[in-house]
Amino acid sequence: MTSQDVAILRIGHRPERDQRVTTHVGLTARALGAKGMYLASADKGVVESISDVVERWGGEFFCEDNVKYRACIKEWKAQGGVVVHLTMYGLNLPDVIGEIRPHARVLVIVGAEKVPGDIYGLADYNVAVTSQPHSEISSLALFLDNFFQGKEFACEFPGAQISIIPTRVGKQTVER
Ligand code: SAM
Repeated sequence: MTSQDVAILRIGHRPERDQRVTTHVGLTARALGAKGMYLASADKGVVESISDVVERWGGEFFCEDNVKYRACIKEWKAQGGVVVHLTMYGLNLPDVIGEIRPHARVLVIVGAEKVPGDIYGLADYNVAVTSQPHSEISSLALFLDNFFQGKEFACEFPGAQISIIPTRVGKQTVER
C-alpha cells in the first residue's frame, strides 16, 4: 500500500451533469493509491457508486459528500497536511513534485468548471499537468503517478469480492 495519505477534494460538481466524471475522479483516485474523496456538493448517487465499487473490489476508500470546501481545507491544514490545487495556470508538475512528495498528507483539489478564485490562495501549491486544458481525471491520474512514482501499481485491496488475475489474452477473475 502507499504510505502517504492522499485525499481528493472535488469542487464545482453539478449533480445534473457531472456524476459520471466525478465518479471517475473517485475511481481513479482509489485505483491509484489515494485514501478517499471529499465532494463539495450533495450527491448520494456518486457516494453510492463509489461505495459499491469499494464493496466489490476491496480496500477502504472513503467518499464523503456535502463537504464545505473551505472548512475541509482548513481542517486538512490544521492536521499538518498540504493542499495541492490542480490547475493549468499553476507551476508545472515536474518543477514542484519533488517539493510536494515528502509530505505525509496531501489534499488534491480538482475542479469541474471554473473554480472559485479563493482556491488559488488557499492552496499551498497550484500545479499544472502541462499548461494546456484537459480534464480533472487525466490531471489527477498523472499527478498521483508522479507523486507515488509507480508504487501505486503495488497497491492491495483487502476484502475484495472480486479480483483480476492479469493475463496476456482474455479475462481471468477470482470471486470470493
Ligand atoms: N475552464 C476551467 C477553469 O478555468 O478552471 C477548466 C476546468 S477543467 C474541465 C476541470 C478541472 O480539470 C480543473 O479545475 C483542473 O482541476 C483540471 N485540469 C484541467 N486541465 C488541467 C491541467 N492542464 N493541469 C492541471 N489540472 C487541470
